[in-house]
Amino acid sequence: MSSQSPSSKRRVILKLSGEALREIGSTDNISPEIVDRMANEVKEAMGSGKVELGIVVGGGNFWRGAAASARGMDRATADYVGMLATVMNALALQGALEHKGVPCVVQSAIEMKNVAETFIRRKAVRHLSEGRVVIFAAGTGSPFFSTDTTAALRASEMSANVVLKATMVDGVYDSDPKKNPDAKRFDRVTFRECITRQFQVMDSTAFSLCMDNHIPIVIFDLQKPGNVAAALMGAEIGTIVDGGD
Ligand code: UDP
Repeated sequence: MSSQSPSSKRRVILKLSGEALREIGSTDNISPEIVDRMANEVKEAMGSGKVELGIVVGGGNFWRGAAASARGMDRATADYVGMLATVMNALALQGALEHKGVPCVVQSAIEMKNVAETFIRRKAVRHLSEGRVVIFAAGTGSPFFSTDTTAALRASEMSANVVLKATMVDGVYDSDPKKNPDAKRFDRVTFRECITRQFQVMDSTAFSLCMDNHIPIVIFDLQKPGNVAAALMGAEIGTIVDGGD
């Protein structure tokens, strides 16, 4: 079976960081209201009939392996904790989507039969082509990676047209816009420049995988209402990262 989308739909991998599901300043790791808003935007985009959608969720609202490791914990163990955290986010998102009538499957890279399907590439492709949203949980299933890299990997495996990274900034800057008021924002930038200049908006493994597999990445601000739906439907927002040709 070919992994390519047989339809004219755009196949998209949306990367949602765990922080996207937390209300700023709240002690709750997941905000049901925010999850509900995300689900509304996904529903709107799926309703357009133009999109096949896989979502990779992060776990940073609960846990980050590197941070726990810096405080003395074994890195691999800490990373497994992080991967399990992503499963909680995936289930919350699935619940909200199903509540709105959006067909949705969670596939976990770590086997967890009672709560999720196990990640099987061919099954995931089938779900996508039959109009179900697939939420990819538990990252790559291996420590020392990130969910950004997972998004690049799943996009490559699914022959996706684009990776959309929904984040807390409105694009790629040449320095941290929170620290430098003169930071310059790019409308378009190459993978090479992102890797060479070590732009922190995604890790270099994720950039490299997308570069090698010719999958552009769009980095956009998820905090602006309507942006997720707009990005999913192909609106030109944020910064596009590509090969530059
Ligand atoms: N993680 C991992 N392997 C993966 C993906 C994630 O070990 O393939 C772990 C890692 O510890 C990471 C945590 O899961 O810190 C949560 O993922 P991430 O930090 O990417 O989440 P986000 O920042 O997007 O919320």
